[in-house]
Amino acid sequence: MYDCIIIGGGPAGLNAALVLGRARRSVALIDSNKPRNAVTHASHGFITRDGVSPSEFRSVAAEELSSYPSIDQLQAEVVTIEKTELGFVVEESLGHYYQAKKLVLATGVNEIFPEIEGFYSFYGKSLFVCPYCDGWEHRDQPLVIVSESSHVFHYVKMIYNWSKDLVVCTNGHALLNDEETEKLVSKGIKIMEQPLASFEGVNGQLEKVRFEDGTEIERSGGFVMSKKLIPNLQLVENLGCNTEESGTLKTDEFGRTSVKGLYAAGDASYVNPSQLIFAAADGSKIATGINMDLTEEEF
Ligand SMILES: Cc1cc2nc3c(=O)[nH]c(=O)nc-3n(C[C@H](O)[C@H](O)[C@H](O)COP(=O)(O)OP(=O)(O)OC[C@H]3O[C@@H](n4cnc5c(N)ncnc54)[C@H](O)[C@@H]3O)c2cc1C
Repeated sequence: MYDCIIIGGGPAGLNAALVLGRARRSVALIDSNKPRNAVTHASHGFITRDGVSPSEFRSVAAEELSSYPSIDQLQAEVVTIEKTELGFVVEESLGHYYQAKKLVLATGVNEIFPEIEGFYSFYGKSLFVCPYCDGWEHRDQPLVIVSESSHVFHYVKMIYNWSKDLVVCTNGHALLNDEETEKLVSKGIKIMEQPLASFEGVNGQLEKVRFEDGTEIERSGGFVMSKKLIPNLQLVENLGCNTEESGTLKTDEFGRTSVKGLYAAGDASYVNPSQLIFAAADGSKIATGINMDLTEEEF
């Protein structure tokens, strides 16, 4: 019986494990090793870790956690969770069972993007979603911005500070009103509303964007707005957690869900902005909540 099982070893789960391990709590950190940012070479914006690769981030974290004897790090995919009188029992894909008093869901999100041929060959290499994460590396370059969202105007305004050479593609949607269009055009930003066909280039380096009408534009990178971020909550669907209208779990400031003993952290809890440092901070905060709850129950 562990004090806590953490499902998901991204920055949220890793930092939760660190704080709980340092609080002398027994922890099983179970991770399937499919990080959301695996497609990228370098992560930015986390002080002391700026430019670190996702794999290095995780291997440094694993080494740090290994100093704490009460933390077990397990590589496996959790397939079921059962709520019991004493807490939770989880089963992983190899058929092993683990039980704990508390359970943290730090399983990240699933991103849904506009369906455009070639996108995943460039995603994380020359096409990105977050300008705070990857804008600096693409400053002053000829960029494409793809969005099917009504927030496109705000997205473009923000990216303009990193590069003024922008083409905005709305993939067949009329999303900008006259005033917004006029403003963007006055800044030299080109707007192309026709449907997109494909992204083209070599070894992840974008060279061209092609439209269904045959038009092509040369671009060396860009930003594509995700249509939706869906927290990975399938594992707890049977537990009857209260959810927000958006489908995300209802949680308090310490990540407590409506199911006693179940907490959510990081992207799975829809932390905004969706960045490493926020996910790690969220994991840290949730761990203090868990330690507080265990203390109240046991002292
Ligand atoms: C292309 C790209 C570039 C990015 N660049 C940056 C950047 O430069 N700077 C920055 O701050 N942020 C960046 N981000 C955002 C950052 O990756 C996320 O904010 C962060 O990873 C969220 O951390 P998390 O711990 O909540 O989830 P994740 O990092 O997604 O971790 C979730 C973990 O849960 C595991 N998991 C899921 N289901 C199960 C299961 N059933 N059993 C066991 N394990 C499971 C997964 O394998 C995964 O390891 C980028 C994201 C992308 C997509």
